[in-house]
Amino acid sequence: MKKILALIMAVLMMTACFAGCGEDTATDATGEAKTYIIYSDNSFAPFEFLDTNTNTYVGVDMELLAAIAKDQGFKYEMHNEGFDPAMGAVQSGQADAMIAGMTINDKRKETFDFSDGYFEDGSILVVAQGNTAITDESKLAGKKVAAKIGTVSTTYAESLKDKYGFEINYFEDSPAMYQAVASGNADACFEDYSVIAWAIKESGVKLQTVGSVVNPSQYGFAVKKGQNAELITMFNKGLANIKANGEYEKILNKYGYSAEK
Ligand code: GLN
Repeated sequence: MKKILALIMAVLMMTACFAGCGEDTATDATGEAKTYIIYSDNSFAPFEFLDTNTNTYVGVDMELLAAIAKDQGFKYEMHNEGFDPAMGAVQSGQADAMIAGMTINDKRKETFDFSDGYFEDGSILVVAQGNTAITDESKLAGKKVAAKIGTVSTTYAESLKDKYGFEINYFEDSPAMYQAVASGNADACFEDYSVIAWAIKESGVKLQTVGSVVNPSQYGFAVKKGQNAELITMFNKGLANIKANGEYEKILNKYGYSAEK
C-alpha cells in the first residue's frame, strides 16, 4: 500500500513539474534562459524614440515591453532599426519579435502572429502648415504624396493613388517623410494620428492634419507566424497583469494618453 502511494505521489509530482516547469519558461537547447531579440522602429514617437539626454530608446512600446518582460521574467535585447527592417528581421528569423506601433490587420496575420491589442490608432492625412489647398483626399490629384515604406498608411495611400491620380515618393522613416512635406518636396503624407499629433505638438514639426482618422485599429506585438508562441503568451499575460496593477495606465499617462481609449 505504501509503495503504491509513493508511486502515485511520484507520478503526481512529475506531472506537476511537467505542467509547471514547462510552461512559459524561455530556455534554449542548453537550458540557459533565452534572450529574445526584439526589433522596433527607429523613430516613432511617442512609441519609440531616442532620448538624446540618455542616448537610450524610450516611449510607450519600450516601457510596456520592459514592464511586461519584468512581470513575466523573460530577457530580451532591443534593436531599433526602423519599421520595414523590423518586419523583415522577424520574417527572416533574425528577430524573435517586434514592437513598433504595429497595426494588427488580416493581411499581416497571413505572415505574423499578434498579441492582444494594446493601443488604438489610425491614419490621417497630413500637409504642410498653412496649406489651404488640400482640404481632403480628392485634392491630392496631380500631387506628390510622401509615404513610409511598409506601413498601413502607405497601403492606404496606394489604394487611393489611381482613383485620384497622384505620385508616391517612398521614405525609410517618419522624420524623412515629414521633412519632405514640410520642405515642399512632397504635398502630403499619411501617418498614424497619435504619432503625427505628437510630432506637431512636441517636436514643432511644421505640419497639420486634415480631416479625420481612417481605419482605426489596434497595435500589437508580433512574431513570425507559427514561431515563438510562448512569447506571445507571456506578452498577453504580462499585459493583462500590468493593466490590472495600474502600470499600463501609468506608462500611457506619461505620454499623455489614458487607458480608457
Ligand atoms: N501603425 C503603422 C503600421 O503598422 C505604422 C507603424 C510604424 O510606422 N512604426 O503600419
